[in-house]
Amino acid sequence: MPATPVPIGLMSAMHEELALLLQAMPDERRVTVAGRDFWQGHWQGRPVVAVLSRIGKVAAATTATALIERFGVERIVFTGVAGGIGPGVRVGDVVLGSAYVQHDMDASPLFPRHEVPLYGRSRFAADAALCDGLSRAAQQVLAQVATHVGDAAVAGFGLQSARLHTGLIVSGDRFVSTTTECRALQQALPEALAVEMEGAAVAQVCADYGVPFAALRTISDRADDDAHADFSRFIRDVASRYSLAMLSAWLKNAG
Ligand code: SAH
Repeated sequence: MPATPVPIGLMSAMHEELALLLQAMPDERRVTVAGRDFWQGHWQGRPVVAVLSRIGKVAAATTATALIERFGVERIVFTGVAGGIGPGVRVGDVVLGSAYVQHDMDASPLFPRHEVPLYGRSRFAADAALCDGLSRAAQQVLAQVATHVGDAAVAGFGLQSARLHTGLIVSGDRFVSTTTECRALQQALPEALAVEMEGAAVAQVCADYGVPFAALRTISDRADDDAHADFSRFIRDVASRYSLAMLSAWLKNAG
């Protein structure tokens, strides 16, 4: 008898994203663990478990742990939105995280700033093969943005030259929405391309279990004084559609 295929874990940060994903899964079945709804089913012919991460590092870590322990996922891919803090990282661009740091981790002077105590490091790397596949998928989608989000969203959000950036994503339990705070982050972690609230926590859990991980984040704001503008509409009209198209292309390519 063939072995049961091992599912891929798909974590979304937003309800809107999960809703689109569930519409695309023909046979989703809900299983509730730790107060979270995990959706088991198939997409593009592959077994997947889709779940809302919830917001913040602890919530995301709990969700990732349950995905691994209870559902035995072989990889985890996270999609969501983030604030752009690297130069040239604009609203509508996509950041693929090749490494993750908790920007609010600080056990100094006992440990260097940002180092996770007893791990001897501050950075957690994404899986290289997963990044390659996601990068190809993201570039395919960004080459035809209007097909996925429509001409009105392209014009309304200025997505004509949306592009993919690959590099450091920083995470912390704070929605960064002042220019002052954004500048402080840029100074503390000059390589950072984007800031969000979950990625580094999931990366740490995946490193603990040896499960490949990577995250794709659509830039919804510049983590500055305007960060709240059109947040919900952007997620609905752009980010959730990008995520669906990129994950779909990735699963098809990975065939
Ligand atoms: N108004 C939203 C707030 C969500 S918090 C709501 O009511 O649902 C922001 C979410 O988007 C987090 O999951 C985080 O990962 C991401 N994010 C987007 N921009 C961010 C920023 N500037 N700083 C931190 N997290 C950001």
